Amino acid sequence: MRCPFETQERTAFRDSFRKFVAKEITPFAAQWDEDGTFPWDIHEKAGALGLYGFGVDAEHGGLGFDDAFMRAICAEELAQCGVGGIAAALGCRNISIGPIQTFASEEIKRRVLPDILSRRKASCLAITEPSGGSDVANMKTTARKEGSHYILNGSKTFITGGMISDYFVVGARTSGSGLSGVSLFFVEKDMPGFSRTALERKMGWWCSDQASLYFDDCRVPEDNMLGPEGAGFLAIMNNFNYERVAIIAQALGMMKLALKECIAYAQERHTFGKPLIKHQVIRHKIADMSAKIDACEAYLNQICWNINEGDIPVAEISKAKFFTTKALEYVASEAMQIFGGAGYLRGNAVERIYREVKVLAIGGGSEEIMKDLAVRQMGY
Ligand SMILES: Cc1cc2nc3c(=O)[nH]c(=O)nc-3n(C[C@H](O)[C@H](O)[C@H](O)COP(=O)(O)OP(=O)(O)OC[C@H]3O[C@@H](n4cnc5c(N)ncnc54)[C@H](O)[C@@H]3O)c2cc1C
Repeated sequence: MRCPFETQERTAFRDSFRKFVAKEITPFAAQWDEDGTFPWDIHEKAGALGLYGFGVDAEHGGLGFDDAFMRAICAEELAQCGVGGIAAALGCRNISIGPIQTFASEEIKRRVLPDILSRRKASCLAITEPSGGSDVANMKTTARKEGSHYILNGSKTFITGGMISDYFVVGARTSGSGLSGVSLFFVEKDMPGFSRTALERKMGWWCSDQASLYFDDCRVPEDNMLGPEGAGFLAIMNNFNYERVAIIAQALGMMKLALKECIAYAQERHTFGKPLIKHQVIRHKIADMSAKIDACEAYLNQICWNINEGDIPVAEISKAKFFTTKALEYVASEAMQIFGGAGYLRGNAVERIYREVKVLAIGGGSEEIMKDLAVRQMGY
């Protein structure tokens, strides 16, 4: 079916990104995931195609324009490599660049954005704490003003890219309780009082790193506050919208891959004297999967169109996030079923997708939190 939003520029962008993923990532991705890392030049090549530059001024190394569809195309096409850890490791820059571009001082932007965008250095977003990630307004890390510095104390956990990053966008409490006491800071890895350790033994996303970060009287210059004091919660929520759209697009890409893989298998595999795909029950599974994918894609396109029009549809982003990850859960499960025992073997993309479903349903705002937010946005 033709899509009214696929302009010539977007089609060309998708083609070049798709070719890059198919040639430079997909053939090696499963092994990289098993190895728990992947080559740094993938960061560089993805960046050279524009992955990190959306919404960033050209003078700081960005593209000088934004396009929600192109952002989504990147996430969807990266997902087609079948290894979610690659999108996660690359995406930690995307979810932290926005607050730097919007709120950092000119001096910081000039000093760090070109390095982040030219892929020499990495950055990440640190919101979740050991005491919880859903209740952002109740974060416990503190930032106390002392002369011309803020002194940070506390810790963060599950931070994607935390071990490979030089720069961190960190939420911390500057006053009282609740959302009006949360501020955002730009922290650098060499600042005194900062340390980190890697999280090990994860269910998936093996080739990306997640870290715990520790702030032990960590001294951060006052100019490193991102935005006004007490405005961090709103900045975090605005930033989440872009992360959630990327997760929706990533889930869409994973569903398309799972469907493609199980259709190919069902054509080859014979049971009871005919190919699996000729059995009505299997055909119905494929129809159900395909319909869910189409619905999620249409929803995503509508959201991207609204964002490009300058309207961030928070309720729809929240609904689409849980709706799409639920659809992914269904598609991954049905694809596994069609593969039978072969789907249970490591190295099969469908097996990996099945394992990686949950992180998308939890990270960037869990299903339950998304539902609550959607109904609140609906005015109830
Ligand atoms: C692989 C991975 C990578 C991650 N990367 C990052 C990152 O880069 N940066 C970052 O800041 N965080 C990151 N996270 C953290 C992620 O955002 C949090 O896990 C998520 O926000 C949920 O927080 P939590 O795990 O503390 O669960 P909790 O907040 O403790 O919630 C536990 C469960 O209870 C549910 N729940 C909570 N409150 C309610 C309620 N009021 N009503 C109903 N149900 C409720 C939640 O939905 C969840 O299912 C990552 C997580 C993972 C697993």
